[in-house]
Amino acid sequence: DGDSADRSYDILTGPGLIDRVGELALPVARGRTAFILTDENVAPLYLGRVQFSLTAAGFNVHHLIVAAGEQSKSFGTLETVLNAMLDARCERTTLLVALGGGIIGDLAGFAASVLLRGVDFIQIPTTLLSQVDSSVGGKTGINTRHGKNLVGTFHQPRLVIADTDTLSTLPQREVLAGYAEVAKYGLIDDAPFWDWLELHGPEVVALSPSPLALAIHTSCTAKARVVAADETETGVRALLNLGHTFGHALEAEGGYGGPLLHGEAVAVGMVMAFDLSAAMGLCPAEDARRVRAHLSTVGLPVVPPKINGAAMDAKALLHHMAGDKKVKDGKVTFVLARGIGQSFLSREVDPADVLRILEQAVSA
Ligand code: NAD
Ligand code: ZN
Repeated sequence: DGDSADRSYDILTGPGLIDRVGELALPVARGRTAFILTDENVAPLYLGRVQFSLTAAGFNVHHLIVAAGEQSKSFGTLETVLNAMLDARCERTTLLVALGGGIIGDLAGFAASVLLRGVDFIQIPTTLLSQVDSSVGGKTGINTRHGKNLVGTFHQPRLVIADTDTLSTLPQREVLAGYAEVAKYGLIDDAPFWDWLELHGPEVVALSPSPLALAIHTSCTAKARVVAADETETGVRALLNLGHTFGHALEAEGGYGGPLLHGEAVAVGMVMAFDLSAAMGLCPAEDARRVRAHLSTVGLPVVPPKINGAAMDAKALLHHMAGDKKVKDGKVTFVLARGIGQSFLSREVDPADVLRILEQAVSA
């Protein structure tokens, strides 16, 4: 269950759920109108089945298909979504159904939070990343020319329906990117889960049903637990940013939609966070080695990519980190670790140590 201050909601995970969306949504719906938001890749695969299921359950169903990609998390697309919902005569009781990855989830959640001052929405996450991360926690948002996710709201879904079968159509690179966030939960505070991933991670990324189900369940539960403890990110929720301060810098420097998917940048970032922790004498070098070895074994990148054959600039990466929105009073908050499963927040990191880690990584 995802718990939040105002209410809790079910997170359903398993095979075969996409054809049961209608019956599952009925108990949480306040009305009988559903509006499905999805993207052009997901629509041909799953829109028909979700429409059919909702219609069979008695819903009056509308939908909108937007372009796939970060450019849809924009003011322009938000306007299109809101107007399409108003054109369809959506009311306060309309249920918005987010069918797709994290991009659709973030956009739909934001639209739901502002349309008529708030309508209910449910998440049907169809990427591993969205099943284990973005569909849980209630953060919604869009990007602006100043950066990613700078405009948004907290708006909890009424229900999350994560059908593991939908991952079978996902490109393997997207599966691996989602796996980086799965591994993150082990590194944050669950060493036994990490040990299990070292044995079964290759089966998870091969979508072997029962290891996959266990990994998703453990991950959503971990996220829901952290979020419930701290819904508006004043403290422990920031641990979910393990690898993300480095990762965001890599994404920004590479150019969004560039050489690294978010999860790939997080994988490299987690390796850097452990290397930094080890270099600061906080964490055993052996643990940093295990992090790198496992992520690399499943097929994730562990060093920054070369851009047109050239190494990224370490100083430029450091500069991006200082501009991250997690910066308070000019100080960067890092998630460091005393070992696998023992992460903590620190504002006492010497930029010279960070630069050394970056220089080592870009020249690897
Ligand atoms: P995404 O939504 O772009 O999906 C990845 C790609 O896979 C897209 O091309 C999509 O069309 C396609 N796709 C989706 N499901 C598919 C399926 N089942 N079969 C085939 N193709 C499929 O990306 P994502 O990685 O799911 O989400 C990334 C977004 O999530 C980012 O914008 C990020 O900021 C956001 N995010 C939000 C939170 C949060 O707490 N709200 C947390 C993490 C990430
Ligand atoms: Zn992430």
